[in-house]
Amino acid sequence: MSLTTYFMEATYLIASILFVLALKGMSHPETARRGMFMAEGGMFMAIVGTLIGTHIMTWGWILVGLTIGSIIGIWMALFVPMTSMPQRTALSHAFGALAAALVGVGEFIIHGAEMGVVTRGALGFEVMLGALTTTGSLIAAGKLHGTIHGKPIQFRGQNAVNLLIFLAMTGSFVYFWSPSHSHRGVLHHAGRGVCLRRDASDPHRLGRHAGGYVAVEQLRWPGRGGTGFVLGNNVLIIAGTLDGFSGLILSVLMCKAMNRSITNVLFGGFGSVIAEASAESGGVMREISLDDAAMQLAFANRVIFVPGYGLATAQAQHAVRELGELLEARGVTVKYAIHPVAGRMPGHMNVLLAEANVPYSQLYEMEQINPEFPSTDVAVVIGANDVVNPDARDNPNSLIAGMPILEVDRAKSVIVLKRGQGRGFSGLENPLFFKPNTNMLYGDAKSTLSHLAQAVQHV
Ligand code: NAP
Repeated sequence: MSLTTYFMEATYLIASILFVLALKGMSHPETARRGMFMAEGGMFMAIVGTLIGTHIMTWGWILVGLTIGSIIGIWMALFVPMTSMPQRTALSHAFGALAAALVGVGEFIIHGAEMGVVTRGALGFEVMLGALTTTGSLIAAGKLHGTIHGKPIQFRGQNAVNLLIFLAMTGSFVYFWSPSHSHRGVLHHAGRGVCLRRDASDPHRLGRHAGGYVAVEQLRWPGRGGTGFVLGNNVLIIAGTLDGFSGLILSVLMCKAMNRSITNVLFGGFGSVIAEASAESGGVMREISLDDAAMQLAFANRVIFVPGYGLATAQAQHAVRELGELLEARGVTVKYAIHPVAGRMPGHMNVLLAEANVPYSQLYEMEQINPEFPSTDVAVVIGANDVVNPDARDNPNSLIAGMPILEVDRAKSVIVLKRGQGRGFSGLENPLFFKPNTNMLYGDAKSTLSHLAQAVQHV
């Protein structure tokens, strides 16, 4: 092994260790920031290792990519608001997956003809999963941004169409995987033409260029993602495995938090039975004045804040912390109840409250806080809806039946901060708003909380 290879492998080893430590750090809010720095350090080492490696064909394109990527990255870091973080994350997933798929396609074009069956199989999976993740993440980003409406897109025969697409995809995969060499030979040469830009003036070779692009398209569409294995790159194998499995574990946890099976998430539309699923609400929503709400809070012994997506859209995290501090100064015990799928991305509420310096010791997970609601004087729901919908617990016909909820309705008094009569992500009515112990305080959560804080000071 040359000195360069030794150095490259050493940087990869350090990068891999940093990735493992980063994941460990990110598993708790207190160490999450350190975890992020470790992940950045790991990524830096991996990039350095790759750049000193021997596979670089041209620096020009790398510099162009670095420049464009850095400009977009810096712009996103500076200007994308916290409220758009979920869709921003989805876009990152899409581009990461696209990169993996394209690397796979490039590998096939250059080395496809010499590849063994196992490597070709891994490459096929890499490209298949990469492309699937790309389109899936783009749809997710569109939905989270509101560009694509949140209701499930369903049509007659949808599962049959999906099955057909799946069969076409696996069929293409098997075709490229098969030991017949003729088509791969053509693709191989065509691909080399594209990659190495040889003799572009020759019309026959131009024909091959076109073949190469068609091949790319054919491979992109049937294929998707296991780059490290194919490239024999250790850091990619480790990082890819960590990424894949942490994603899988997260998916399982999210499904559990919504009481939905993985198959239901993959093949069922959330809103497919919306018509028969609306709650037995009835009654009226009672409004409370700001002063009365402030009075309740100021004279309470125990208050629990329950943040949801509305807190994120209103950017009300600082305002709630200020109100919480004022109440604590008056001797009120203040806690925050965090539902695992509150907001629009895992950990959404934790991130927002941490940004506002709410102490971690005041954040309670659903299982911990639920038994405390009956002894709580006031539960303040801040832009949360689905995660506090008692229908999930009480109405077996509800679309969200069985989804674990924060049981705020069991508190002595509930004050709900929202702008109007809007429904939650699921589109369902929420009977909590009609309960006798619930009062509605309408308005944007941030300004309502600020006004409440002012009013509490005058009590
Ligand atoms: P939600 O059900 O989406 O409800 C949010 C509520 O906030 C709405 O009813 C809205 O009512 C109110 N709101 C919006 N803007 C507001 C503002 N500026 N000020 C005050 N209120 C405002 O939220 P959630 O209870 O947090 O539930 C999360 C939902 O998202 C769940 O169904 C979950 O499954 C889903 N989801 C979660 C994730 C995740 O990773 N966490 C990802 C995708 C989907 P008004 O319009 O009347 O104000």
